Amino acid sequence: MKSSEIREKFLKFFESKGHTIVRSSSLVPGNDPTLLLTNSGMVQFKDVFLGQDTRPYTRATTVQRCVRAGGKHNDLENVGYTARHHTFFEMLGNFSFGDYFKRDAINYAWELLTKVYMLPAEKLTVTVYIEDDEAYDIWANEIGVPKERIIRIGDNKGSRYASDNFWQMADTGPCGPCTEIFYDHGADIWGGPPGSAEEDGDRFIEIWNLVFMQFNRDEAGVMHKLPKPCVDTGMGMERLAAVLQHVHSNYEIDLFQNLIKAAARETGATDLENKSLRVIADHIRAASFLIVDGIIPGPESHGYVLRRIIRRALRHGHKLGQTKAFFYKLVEDLNIEMGQAYPELAEAKDRVAQTLKAEEERFGETLEHGMKILEAQLAKDPKNLDGATAFLLYDTYGFPLDLTADICREREITLDEAGFAAAMEEQRNNSRKGGKGQMAVGVEYTGEKNKFVGYDQLLHTSKVVALYANG
Ligand code: ATP
Ligand code: MG
Ligand code: MG
Ligand code: MG
Repeated sequence: MKSSEIREKFLKFFESKGHTIVRSSSLVPGNDPTLLLTNSGMVQFKDVFLGQDTRPYTRATTVQRCVRAGGKHNDLENVGYTARHHTFFEMLGNFSFGDYFKRDAINYAWELLTKVYMLPAEKLTVTVYIEDDEAYDIWANEIGVPKERIIRIGDNKGSRYASDNFWQMADTGPCGPCTEIFYDHGADIWGGPPGSAEEDGDRFIEIWNLVFMQFNRDEAGVMHKLPKPCVDTGMGMERLAAVLQHVHSNYEIDLFQNLIKAAARETGATDLENKSLRVIADHIRAASFLIVDGIIPGPESHGYVLRRIIRRALRHGHKLGQTKAFFYKLVEDLNIEMGQAYPELAEAKDRVAQTLKAEEERFGETLEHGMKILEAQLAKDPKNLDGATAFLLYDTYGFPLDLTADICREREITLDEAGFAAAMEEQRNNSRKGGKGQMAVGVEYTGEKNKFVGYDQLLHTSKVVALYANG
């Protein structure tokens, strides 16, 4: 089943259950200054859940574009390492605003998965919140899931496990238990059921999270029952597609295979399994959709999230041997895959490509120089990267720290992050003292002035600062 069909079946199913189909909102939340980027389907409905906004419907369904590349939910470091994480993904969701609750939500999810998408019930495992007997009983007695495949999970405080089945919007406000649905990809893949010591593996993959907003937590931490409890669910489209297309990894689904082939075409890579191709395919989606939604690469905030994603992709291209601009050419391929579902992408694709190309040109030369500095330093000390060099790469060559960390991780090199922070602090102090020709932290490469003038001269931050001061 293709991605387009998966989306359509989801929306149609919930429409048949009385839900209004609502369009995906922008990646830049319009109503929430505390959140940088939309990271789930509920974001556009936050005020409705809080009772501060009303809609002409009490049931809604969406396919929401999401980015998790910073803040509380950051999956940037997972891309290229797990089978299931992207920076950009599509979340299928259904929502009840004080209308139906646990019983219907669970029944709808089960019906859709097993009767519409035809997933074999015996491959599904569910979790419930440790205290949520109501959800447990629905799964056990009404749906008939065998008890060995219903797992009670706590709120993870003080536990070494990542699973967390208690959801909260913030420290105060709506909160409540979750129930999650996992698909078992089979014993030949490493991993264990949720709540087990091997849960971080990719055998049991979480496909759907159903959140039951049941309480309102006040300032004192006391939980009050909400008069009209709500439902918020989210299912990763790509994870469901992997199941329906009988592949394990999200990166093996139709949409991603085409993007990976395009990335191979543009970089000259021949091994389609190459991790860097996955990273590039992931990042072209995130970068393009952020630009569609009005963000441009820059030194802070949204712009810096975008810049980090683009530069990381370019570094992976460089690793594959591509030193010329290539990333922007993938926008056409992305448009073929996703332009129909997202007309805003089709409309903006030229602007997206131009923005990417400009950033590629800006970073191309410093990437090349920076990599030489890095290699020279690693030739001296192959197991550690000192903070001063990492800071130099950051400050003069425009390497975001996570990009340098990504290189270190793949080569099993220890990165001195404390040393990086110290170098940054030192430069801050120096620029506070003033001095003509000095540059602020995070300043961009500006051409000749900061050109590489010899490795030893640039190794220590104090000398870097001196170099700036001398213009
Ligand atoms: P995981 O534990 O696998 O990181 P999660 O619990 O963080 O997932 P939720 O916050 O519950 O995810 O989001 C709801 C659904 O969105 C998940 O069940 C999953 O299908 C999907 N999803 C979450 N994060 C990603 C991601 N980075 N890439 C692709 N799909 C995702
Ligand atoms: Mg997660
Ligand atoms: Mg999870
Ligand atoms: Mg979850």
